[in-house]
Amino acid sequence: STEAVADIGLIGLAVMGQNLILNMNDHGFVVCAFNRTVSKVDHFLENEAKGTNIVGAHSVEELCRKLKRPRKVMLLVKAGSAVDAFIDSIVPHLEKGDIIIDGGNSHFPDTLRRTKELEAKGLLFVGCGVSGGEEGARYGPSLMPGGSPAAWPSLKPIFQAIAAKADGQPCCDWVGETGAGHYVKMVHNGIEYGDMQMICEAYQLLRDGLGYSHDEIGDIFDTWNKGELNSFLIEITRDIMKFNDTDGQPLVAKILDTAGQKGTGKWTAISSLDMGVPVTLIGEAVYSRCLSALKDERVRASKVLDGPVGQKFQGDKKQFVYYLGQALYAAKIISYAQGFMLLREAAKEYQWNLNYGGIALMWKGGCIIRSAFLGDIKNAYVKDPKIESLLFDPFFKEALSTAQTGWRFVASQAVQLGIPAPAITTALSFYDGYRSSHLPANLLQAQRDYFGAHTYERLDNRGTYVHTNWTGRG
Ligand code: NAP
Repeated sequence: STEAVADIGLIGLAVMGQNLILNMNDHGFVVCAFNRTVSKVDHFLENEAKGTNIVGAHSVEELCRKLKRPRKVMLLVKAGSAVDAFIDSIVPHLEKGDIIIDGGNSHFPDTLRRTKELEAKGLLFVGCGVSGGEEGARYGPSLMPGGSPAAWPSLKPIFQAIAAKADGQPCCDWVGETGAGHYVKMVHNGIEYGDMQMICEAYQLLRDGLGYSHDEIGDIFDTWNKGELNSFLIEITRDIMKFNDTDGQPLVAKILDTAGQKGTGKWTAISSLDMGVPVTLIGEAVYSRCLSALKDERVRASKVLDGPVGQKFQGDKKQFVYYLGQALYAAKIISYAQGFMLLREAAKEYQWNLNYGGIALMWKGGCIIRSAFLGDIKNAYVKDPKIESLLFDPFFKEALSTAQTGWRFVASQAVQLGIPAPAITTALSFYDGYRSSHLPANLLQAQRDYFGAHTYERLDNRGTYVHTNWTGRG
């Protein structure tokens, strides 16, 4: 009909929705805006959207009437029941082949379910991870779409136009079936937790172990940002170190040391436990936030429990800083290797065809974990798309070989100084476990067989399970 003027409809006029609409408009797409609180539609059209090609609707029915076919309706509303409620209200106004996209932070099992339910009705559903915050949404987010593959050809021109670009390529590609897009977004957030935790550990070692000022630490991060650690998070940490309060003192030093969390890191850790994949670094990052939240309990414990307090590193500080850079780099390689191990297992479990190199490219720009390093991960998967683990890639194998001198030094110093470094040390334990052909689980199996007759396999007779009467009692 002549009314069908818009290329896409977008529901949810909070910051993310508004910015994505403006971004789409910049790229020549006509967007129709709608929101539960309808007054926000007119407010948006008269203010932020003034002078653009953006149109509005005052009901879901009007929104659907204004869309070209196949209709594309994108939701940017609070994750959870709001998404289901909107889907239910939109469906009666759609027809076969129309597409609903959820761009919120939905948990992947919901996306899996919604994809199946809507496909059963002849509709297409896409759960799209969106990263990069408000700024990303406005000028180029990382977009991770998954769900009904048949939806991708109609969405591709819009999504790849508005996405961030890395090396001239869009940070957006088809991720995989059903909940794959939101799963990959979830793992992205988990990796973000890990990256942030490692950086915080480096900060504490520099502050408490080496006694550097925030300004000096800022300089160290600035140097790191020029090398292999180059990334958005290292860059903003430098800026945070250098940011002073009105009294000229570093603002960060005045912030209460209890971390919040919205749950996506926890979801990643839970999924890793469900899948049986040792994603230890993200797990430690989530637990570290939990430990930080026990502020009052920690203050009481600090007056009771013994250990080194306020000890300073006595050796060559410049050397320590160099080694700390190596430790950060090595731990980061382990964290990403663990994240991709989880993706591989999830792909098996849910029958997704994941494009691992494409995922690295989607994360290389636009999002919080963007970094030069993701280009090296992409290269590893381009060279060998079926590689068992990133740790088998010659580039990363070599990088770990070089970095481990500093990594081991920093881990042992942290232990000696009594400064917690859970991410850096768990990464090292994982590395040493992963490269062990013999772990002590032989004893574990013996114990299980001793108390529970769980049986064990002999090294010299694999595949046969035996039980031993360990006590000689009948
Ligand atoms: P938000 O605060 O998460 O959600 C606000 C929007 O949801 C408003 O449009 C609101 O409508 C609507 N809404 C809330 N409850 C509703 C309900 N029960 N029924 C119908 N609509 C409801 O907004 P946001 O920060 O822009 O985020 C949107 C989505 O993107 C979320 O899933 C968020 O997790 C995700 N996300 C956010 C960021 C970020 O940096 N903020 C980054 C990536 C992803 P009313 O105006 O009527 O209240």
